[in-house]
Amino acid sequence: MSNDNNTSIGEFDYNFICDFFSNTQRQGPGSPEATLKALNFIDNLHDGSIIADVGCGTGGQTMVLARHVNGKITGLDLFPGFIDLFNANARKMNLQDRVKGIVRSMDDLPFQNGELDLIWSEGSIYNIGFERGLNEWRKYLKKGGYVAVSESAWFTEERPAEIYDYWMEQYPGIDTIPNQVAMVQKAGYVPVASFILPENCWTKHYFGPLAKAERMFLDKHAGDKTAEKFVEFQRHDAELYRKYKEFYGYVFYIAKKVKP
Ligand code: SAH
Repeated sequence: MSNDNNTSIGEFDYNFICDFFSNTQRQGPGSPEATLKALNFIDNLHDGSIIADVGCGTGGQTMVLARHVNGKITGLDLFPGFIDLFNANARKMNLQDRVKGIVRSMDDLPFQNGELDLIWSEGSIYNIGFERGLNEWRKYLKKGGYVAVSESAWFTEERPAEIYDYWMEQYPGIDTIPNQVAMVQKAGYVPVASFILPENCWTKHYFGPLAKAERMFLDKHAGDKTAEKFVEFQRHDAELYRKYKEFYGYVFYIAKKVKP
């Protein structure tokens, strides 16, 4: 398949991207098992816990969290279409009394200083950058509160030019795991745990459902060149993962705020 390697996701209209991803349960790599594994590192949660899921999308991971933690969860996302689906999902699972989605940007969160017990964010923090997000969100956490975020990372010091160039185009903020752990510590948290998301978080839980969404999307937008280019971009992304998965992936970081 021919591909313009210089295509970047940022070139596509935001509503267009969201229309596509509305048909998928997840909008980024991850799985219920990975969410629960990360949750297992977190103590002190209780019925009164206040939790934020930043960049929640349609809420796949939020509902998993909500079934295992009895606190109040606010999901925040920039895209209203995702938040509508999020709230519909919460209602379907009868979680609407303590799980609410709101439209909000992650650089302007609506919380008080020291209000939150836990900030969750899967596959989203890259939108403002890993280091910036960790630094800016810290103030909203209570002493003893946790942040749990997943972020793309390089696994090796050296990497082939094709995948390096691709990431520099998509997200030059990607870094190695030791550098990201150092950023966690520098931002004022104790790094409690980190783990690489298993391959099935990409293949079974992300690319698999995307392939189905791509076919539906092409049917809906038959003959539309932008839609074709978008799907081609997605397929190229999946192809690169298959080719270079030894060199990069997603890593979950769990960290604790121990000082006020
Ligand atoms: N957490 C979900 C979604 C990840 S995709 C999952 O793992 O499936 C990234 C999400 O970040 C998208 O839903 C996108 O709409 C959202 N997003 C992008 N920029 C944002 C911003 N500035 N503030 C809040 N959400 C944002």
